[in-house]
Amino acid sequence: MSDEDGIQRPSDVGPDDAPPVEEKPYKIVFEANRCFGAGKCAEVSDNWELSITSGVAAPKTYFFGDDDLEHNVRAAEVCPAKKDDGCIHVVDRRTDEEIAPDPHGDGTLSVDW
Ligand code: SF4
Repeated sequence: MSDEDGIQRPSDVGPDDAPPVEEKPYKIVFEANRCFGAGKCAEVSDNWELSITSGVAAPKTYFFGDDDLEHNVRAAEVCPAKKDDGCIHVVDRRTDEEIAPDPHGDGTLSVDW
């Protein structure tokens, strides 16, 4: 799951049956264990739903194209988890960089695993 430096690459995360990059160039990496159910994501993006039973959010789809980029980026940016760093990560699969929320400002995956 990690390279030799111990830095996790976005491409290391996700299911093996992912759709082709050309069709769905973006993906979600979601730290569900850091979600505290604030529901901000669901307010700004149709891709996000808050489960009443579990109390945490989940994306309807983990892979998407340009048409759905903006609202997923918005969800990543408004998520207040992790002291506002956010627990929703939008990754460009072509460059393997985190587009949002990118709190480090360098495209590295900002997960705490
Ligand atoms: S905004 Fe973040 S913390 Fe709130 S429900 Fe969505 S993913 Fe969870």
